[in-house]
Amino acid sequence: SFPAEAVPQAPEDPLFGLMRACKADNSPDKVDLGIGAYRDDNAKPWVLPVVKKLTFCATHATQADEILRNDPDLNHEYLPIAGLASFTSKAAELLVGTSSPALSEKRVSSVQTISGTGAVHLGALFLAKFYKINGQSSTVYLSNPTWANHNQIFSNVGLPIATYPYFSKETKGLDIEGMKRALADAPERSIILLHACAHNPTGVDPTPEQWREIADVMAAKKHFPFFDCAYQGFASGDLDRDASAIRFFIEQGFELLIAQSFAKNFGLYGERAGCFHYVSPPSPDAASVTTRVASQLAILQRSEISNPPIYGAKIASTVLNDKALFAEWQENLRTMSGRIIAMRTALKAKLDELKTPGNWNHITDQIGMFSFTGLTEAQVAKLRSEYHVYMTKNGRISMAGLNTKNVDYFAKAVDKVVR
Ligand code: PLP
Repeated sequence: SFPAEAVPQAPEDPLFGLMRACKADNSPDKVDLGIGAYRDDNAKPWVLPVVKKLTFCATHATQADEILRNDPDLNHEYLPIAGLASFTSKAAELLVGTSSPALSEKRVSSVQTISGTGAVHLGALFLAKFYKINGQSSTVYLSNPTWANHNQIFSNVGLPIATYPYFSKETKGLDIEGMKRALADAPERSIILLHACAHNPTGVDPTPEQWREIADVMAAKKHFPFFDCAYQGFASGDLDRDASAIRFFIEQGFELLIAQSFAKNFGLYGERAGCFHYVSPPSPDAASVTTRVASQLAILQRSEISNPPIYGAKIASTVLNDKALFAEWQENLRTMSGRIIAMRTALKAKLDELKTPGNWNHITDQIGMFSFTGLTEAQVAKLRSEYHVYMTKNGRISMAGLNTKNVDYFAKAVDKVVR
């Protein structure tokens, strides 16, 4: 029989453990800065108005699906293995740009996945199976720190992992020299995981000039870029600007992978809408390579999930394929990113007003959903036990957890624990 007795207890996922502890805390002062999901000014989840329009019947509180009501052909059949084509094609355009030669030259293969996590996983599986240098798997280099799940996803498929320096504790900005040195020292053709924008957990992104320097080192070492893009439009509020690093690497002729999530930018967290894309470099053979890659991705997808879920993809596809809805979505993105930027400004202003010891410029310099505060593990523990503030041990806060009602309280609590 299966020796299940030998199975050790695994630790709880730290982030979901934090969420559970926060939920159990009944203090009216409670501030939830843990999970990476957008909250409105009342600390409530926000269904984007453009999504609500499609999914909620205006006259009923119940979820009366307008897509279902309006589309006589809609049913609950399976999607194709590669997913909803009207969704994946627009998703690719969103990343590479509508007029990209990569699209006209048929250099992109796209597969719908189980949100961004599924896309990273499919990419990892593809690399584990096909990316061999002299018969050996290549090492995947992750930024230090990175989204914790990257470690597990790549390890689970048997790929060796290593890290490159990213965050400078001194400047609370990018350690560009350390990063470039590590990339230069890594064996040729290593796989480099890059956050396309709004780096999680640090909120620190390279500048365009730094991206150029990174690309130069990577080209010299023939490294293979794997972009994780979980926050497009959410970082700056501008979809094109947030895709500029990916577009730059494609222009430079890199062959690369992209994992794309629609969880944050559409507020479709639980619907698991995402895509994985392979981009081939320009070559006479490119379209044939892309076709072959697509055929292998289909085999992997079939054995993993058979075919992806339909609902979130339908919502995103409807918005992405309609000019007016697309414009409304862009407006919704500006609402979310704008509120987060306003909270950065408010938090920094309050800390300045309180003359809280230390330099807090990084709060407004950093970008996207998260801020790496520089608070120590002991200070984080004190914030939780004495002030009911919940955040990850590494000092990361989800900016979306702050609002006009709790930002002063949080700033005062930070002020107390750092003194
Ligand atoms: N990659 C990064 C860097 C993330 O921060 C996240 C979510 O927090 C994801 C990928 C994947 O999220 P999801 O699977 O919900 O799309």
